[in-house]
Amino acid sequence: MKIRCPACDKQAEVPDDFRWRPFCSRRCKLADLGAWLDEAYRLSRPLRADDLEDDDLLI
Ligand SMILES: [Zn+2]
Repeated sequence: MKIRCPACDKQAEVPDDFRWRPFCSRRCKLADLGAWLDEAYRLSRPLRADDLEDDDLLI
């Protein structure tokens, strides 16, 4: 079957039971997972005081 890899945006022809679907390769699968974990980590980071600090609002 034809897939379009969400990680590198390449089209590839892969077997129906291709292990890394919908990615074109293991590398892309892991890259995407890495990006996802990175995102999840960033979103779950505790809010720090200086995230809310905006000097303009205090004038
Ligand atoms: Zn890819």
